[in-house]
Amino acid sequence: MTTKKAVQIVEMLLEKKTSLKQDLSKTENNWGNDIVGSFIQTELTSLTNEIAWLQILKKEIALDCKHPTEMHDQCKGQKYCMACNMDL
Ligand SMILES: [Zn+2]
Repeated sequence: MTTKKAVQIVEMLLEKKTSLKQDLSKTENNWGNDIVGSFIQTELTSLTNEIAWLQILKKEIALDCKHPTEMHDQCKGQKYCMACNMDL
């Protein structure tokens, strides 16, 4: 059940980082090659890496449950898998 929350947090971070990257990309061309321009370029590279890592992390924690149905149970009306703790 905690996996779902972790996936939601990673998705929220992905959304924020992606939108920040898009905003920075828009201003990138206006700054040229001065210090601010190279700072933005560094920031964009850093954001690109962070987005890639978050996508890998999401892939790891948001795996589909492939356990047999006898491993499934219910808690407070929410079906979940006893083997991987994933909400179903
Ligand atoms: Zn499972």
